[in-house]
Amino acid sequence: MNRVFNFSAGPSVLPEEVLKQAQEQMLCYKDSGMSVMEMSHRSKVYQEIFDTAQSLFKQLLNISDDYEVLFLQGGATTQFSAVPMNLSGGKKCLYIDSGAFASKAIKEAKRYADVSVIASSKADNYSYVPTEYEIDQDAAYLHITSNNTIFGTSYPSLPKTGKVALVADMSSEICGVERDISKFGLVYAGAQKNIGPAGLTVVIIKKSLLENPLGITPLMLNYSELAKTGSMLNTPCTYAIYIAMLNFEYMLRNGGVKGAHQRNKEKAALVYDALDSSSFYTPVAKKEFRSIMNVTFTLPNEELTQKFVSEAGSIGLVNIKGHRSVGGIRASMYNAMPKEGAEKLAQFMADFERKN
Ligand SMILES: *Cc1c(COP(=O)(O)O)cnc(C)c1O
Repeated sequence: MNRVFNFSAGPSVLPEEVLKQAQEQMLCYKDSGMSVMEMSHRSKVYQEIFDTAQSLFKQLLNISDDYEVLFLQGGATTQFSAVPMNLSGGKKCLYIDSGAFASKAIKEAKRYADVSVIASSKADNYSYVPTEYEIDQDAAYLHITSNNTIFGTSYPSLPKTGKVALVADMSSEICGVERDISKFGLVYAGAQKNIGPAGLTVVIIKKSLLENPLGITPLMLNYSELAKTGSMLNTPCTYAIYIAMLNFEYMLRNGGVKGAHQRNKEKAALVYDALDSSSFYTPVAKKEFRSIMNVTFTLPNEELTQKFVSEAGSIGLVNIKGHRSVGGIRASMYNAMPKEGAEKLAQFMADFERKN
């Protein structure tokens, strides 16, 4: 077996310790006589896994009892619709357009709500996160994408919204960057970047925002109904939640989100230092908005980019090709990317520059 350094933007690397634990329990979970995959979601043994996962997640992110935590499906993309349906209440909804996923969220919200895009960095190819805007205090919420996975930008600090609820798509930085959840009305994230396998979507919602869904809201997107049934209006993604539980335990054994954030900063610094000491590579993101989860840069031309990707692959640095809308290279270094992966990439960048 030869495991590579996997820089995939998602689904992405998981800790080996977690995968091994799942492997050991694959045929028989504790004394249940069956795999977690084979269990009824209504069984006592499974409910315990679900409850443990939820409570560890709350502990990790320091989520108070003012919030409901939902374990859903459909990815972050489904939340692009669920958020305006549940929170707009006929009021204006504010959005900041900071990247591809932000703009998809805006497009969906426009189907159901009166949307106002108060700032956009599109004209500069999303190389930064907008910071100049005014927040109408009569709006239902302000939606942001806290880490822009494709362009490699992030909010250095959160917008101050007054009494307007702050909503964030945190898919690519949840559990990897410290954020104060008590500042948010709602946070959502697909699990496949920092939490576990694809399939699970987490939603953290302030209880006071649960009560006002639009009449057209489908049952399966109705946060209030989902909360009342403990996220079990239907069969949840049982196995993905189980792996998330193992990963939450792993994170808590390793310094929690604080520890992960510190290690993520160190890994990102290795690659950004390589970028900053080079005249060969060009960073995509403006310095003060750099993401520590997704590092993006370009090479002088397409031929060198392809050569870079292929040579990196041959030494076990894989999935570093940039998103097709940006080109170049994107190295995603989520929690489970070991520091050696970042070191090896930085070294390879220097070697490649010298040779080319
Ligand atoms: C990956 C990602 C998405 C898409 O998530 P799905 O779970 O595939 O719907 C949305 N927003 C951000 C910021 C992402 O990184």
